[in-house]
Amino acid sequence: MLDKTLAELAQGLATGEFSSVELTQNYLDRISAEDGTLNSFITVTPEQALAQANAADQRRAAGNADAFTGLPVAHKDIFCTEGVRTSCGSKMLDNFISPYNATVIEHFNRAGAVSLGKTNMDEFAMGSSNESSFYGPARNPWNTDCVPGGSSGGSAAAIAGGLTPAATGSDTGGSIRQPAALCGITGLKPTYGRVSRYGMIAYASSLDQGGPMARTAEDTAMMLNVMAGFDPKDSTSLDQPVPDYTLKLNDSLKGLKIGLPKEFFSGEIDPQITAQVQNAIREFEALGATVKEVSLPNTHLAIPAYYIIAPAEASSNLSRFDGVRYGYRCEDPVDLEDMYKRSRGEGFGEEVKRRIMVGTYALSEGFYDAYYKKALQIRRLIQQDYVNALSEVDVIMGPTTPHPAFKLGEKTSDPVAMYMEDIFTISLNLAGMPGISVPCGFANGLPVGLQLIGNYFAEERLLNAAHQFQQATDWHTQTPGQ
Ligand code: GLN
Repeated sequence: MLDKTLAELAQGLATGEFSSVELTQNYLDRISAEDGTLNSFITVTPEQALAQANAADQRRAAGNADAFTGLPVAHKDIFCTEGVRTSCGSKMLDNFISPYNATVIEHFNRAGAVSLGKTNMDEFAMGSSNESSFYGPARNPWNTDCVPGGSSGGSAAAIAGGLTPAATGSDTGGSIRQPAALCGITGLKPTYGRVSRYGMIAYASSLDQGGPMARTAEDTAMMLNVMAGFDPKDSTSLDQPVPDYTLKLNDSLKGLKIGLPKEFFSGEIDPQITAQVQNAIREFEALGATVKEVSLPNTHLAIPAYYIIAPAEASSNLSRFDGVRYGYRCEDPVDLEDMYKRSRGEGFGEEVKRRIMVGTYALSEGFYDAYYKKALQIRRLIQQDYVNALSEVDVIMGPTTPHPAFKLGEKTSDPVAMYMEDIFTISLNLAGMPGISVPCGFANGLPVGLQLIGNYFAEERLLNAAHQFQQATDWHTQTPGQ
């Protein structure tokens, strides 16, 4: 039961092969058995899960089940969940029980989904390895000495380890796609504004986007059907109709034009990754696609621009954590200033403090034009690169990451080396377009991800291409320990 995809589990529920309560109990047992090692959950909610499963079984018995009713999922601990701790991976929110649900959570509740709990993540989604979590790192099920990627590392590790069939994530610079690649699963960053950010704790608001993670493209399509949609509570949410993302999965890829950006195949990249990605591209050619080289000439500026814009927005967003209204407050403050200083000093971890300091500096008077404004100008150039390339081709493809999963501790003392792991994912957030990572092979026994990038609102096309690839290959069916 635990190695089935969401689509297969939905079938099993529909035919009565098993109930949602049985299914949920199986996953809860697996979490109890395995999560001591993987540390992929921050909070497990067995009672709530079984109550939701029971309600889902009754709904099905009454003939009102939807496609998602009774299916278990886990949520990145960045999504506010009413009555359940929402920590964002931080000591600052270790005691925070959210009084309301994020819109995404409301959508899953309405669909009758079962929430198994909240998954581990880098503190405030800042990181690429899950090592900045206050709760300790999640581990990669393919090799528990290795990181699962980040910041949605708990979601990716939980799926790859068979602890949940699917999970939510958020992607500000690669945090869905990069851990998906490192754990050998499928992860989609939707178009900016496609999925509501209401109740998803803000890191860098102009870049943050929630999205689905699962074993297959078909499963991420099922997830996106639940997650996507206009939300009047999020002013950046887009009022565009939501198609049924599962409908076009089987369209033919004949004539699909694929662009390979030359900048994604040069520089610091593991040759085994390049080789696996090239094999995958040949598979697409066999499916009827054509390939040409394109250029994204400003790729090398993406990391510097991102590491001004994201910290600048973060420094503003995180000013709300002051020990006054909710979250961590230091012991015995002598006065108000002492309370602010020590609550923030003790509540935030090292990486978060680094970002707040960089962001505050970049926004300060006198430096604003030199850093922040310049970064915004570069952002526009990067976006134009994608618009130009996507006027020539339907989909851009390349590696999701330059390396497979690295060892725990390997990059923690060198923040810039860590930042470089997002070299192929970060520019897409600056442009606001959608991207999906799918498993396409192995390097030294560790999964490799292929990234597919499309134009604004091209999620259907990306899911179609990814699904066809998965129909022709079996990388996505491999599980650790086989
Ligand atoms: N690794 C990048 C960062 O630390 C991206 C993280 C994310 O997408 N949330 O900012």
